[in-house]
Amino acid sequence: MSDKQANFYQSVERNYDKAAALTNHPKGLLEQIKVCNAIYQMNFPIKIGNSYEVIEAYRVQHSHHRLPTKGGIRFSHMVNQEEVMALATLMTYKCAIVDVPFGGAKGGVKVSTRKYNAEQLEKITRRYTVELVRKNFIGPGTDVPAPDYGTGSREMAWILDTYQQLNNGELDSAACVTGKPVNQNGIRGRTEATGRGVFYGLKEMLSNASDCAEWGIEPGIEGKTMVIQGLGNVGSFTGSISTKEGGAKVIAISEIEGTIYNPKGIDIDKLLKYRKSKGSIIGFPGTKKLKERGDWVGIECDILVPAALESQITKANAKKVKAKIIAEAANGPVTADAEAILLKKGCIIVPDMYLNAGGVTVSYFEWLKNLSHVRYGRIEKRFDQNAYTNIVNLIESMTGKKVNERRKSFITRGADEVDLVRSGLEETMITSYQQIREVYRRKKKVKDLRTAAFITAINKVANDYTTMGIFP
Ligand code: NAD
Repeated sequence: MSDKQANFYQSVERNYDKAAALTNHPKGLLEQIKVCNAIYQMNFPIKIGNSYEVIEAYRVQHSHHRLPTKGGIRFSHMVNQEEVMALATLMTYKCAIVDVPFGGAKGGVKVSTRKYNAEQLEKITRRYTVELVRKNFIGPGTDVPAPDYGTGSREMAWILDTYQQLNNGELDSAACVTGKPVNQNGIRGRTEATGRGVFYGLKEMLSNASDCAEWGIEPGIEGKTMVIQGLGNVGSFTGSISTKEGGAKVIAISEIEGTIYNPKGIDIDKLLKYRKSKGSIIGFPGTKKLKERGDWVGIECDILVPAALESQITKANAKKVKAKIIAEAANGPVTADAEAILLKKGCIIVPDMYLNAGGVTVSYFEWLKNLSHVRYGRIEKRFDQNAYTNIVNLIESMTGKKVNERRKSFITRGADEVDLVRSGLEETMITSYQQIREVYRRKKKVKDLRTAAFITAINKVANDYTTMGIFP
């Protein structure tokens, strides 16, 4: 276990303790909310070519106060028990903040995805799923995984198929995992959900003029410059949606191969295509490569978006940060030591457990869809469309004026699944931010958004335990 990874779990614990001290809950209850409830560590063999490799993997269920538990599966060569524990812990607080009725969990498989081909990764994913089934660590009502770093809809499809083979005929089996491909019981809007949630969250926090004035920031996301670390699922959607729908400007991107910069703005969609064809972001037209990969931290910008891994802004580089807003799209990108430095500088840190909760929110919608066995919008879309058309027709006949056809079809449109998913996600990010803001504004001793988010989560989980009759 390296110091860097140990720091992640310790950072989560330190942040929790700081917030817990500002609540009035009994000590035993606060301890119960803090600890991981179940940890499953496994080692299994996989045949690669003519030899066997032993794969180390984990599933941690942080809190059983609500079931099922929920959280992504990470594939990375850096996976270790403390990292998975930290990520599972954050999931409990994240679910509480966005009112998703699950306990937190996380899975990790210690593999470098670059080292294996698709067939080998499929073998590893399926065997990992079998291990989870054997110990009852997966199921629609027990524990529901999703994608995380190094995994996506392809891995979720393998997990679903393996689970269904072992649970033939289980009516709700499609709800055993989320983030599946749309044609495999997935939901439209899940792939982009975390990045879209980051955008909605930033838009909401920047919408309050008096808060912004206090922080010394211009309100609104339009025109704000962004620097993003990690052009994966979360980083790329955060960048492209913030640009297209919010009018922000991404001026630098950092990836494994280095950091590129263009003060005039970088087109994320074009950059993704470029990286796919060239295997690197370096050399993308109009950009210059910075000397060191880590130079992204010190670029002058409005919003710094770490969207790769934990412990990226540390005691060692926090002083270099010039951005006013740190948007934690990744989990745990700012260590507790770095946070103290950044807060002293007057930075606003929008915490991971709120800002990247869009993924689990839409996963919840997918789980509900799987349990109800019907696509969102299927029942009401045409009914709504006909009703709106009747209203517009009536207005036309009463006024004697015709509404332009394009406008008419826009006004009378019934909602599709993706419209409803986006609407539910936006509503969630707005409501949750307002709850955190309420704590931040009302409690004098709360000086930062992370502490306010922790208190919001702790109060909700404590309330669940109390109403269950535990810790009355
Ligand atoms: P991903 O695997 O799709 O992308 C991560 C990207 O970061 C990769 O392109 C990788 O090359 C890059 N990267 C890794 N180390 C880097 C470094 N040192 N410098 C620059 N780039 C680096 O993963 P993801 O799903 O986008 O997850 C990113 C973060 O967001 C993780 O912390 C994850 O836990 C968190 N998160 C993901 C989701 C989700 O729905 N996928 C939801 C909530 C939180």
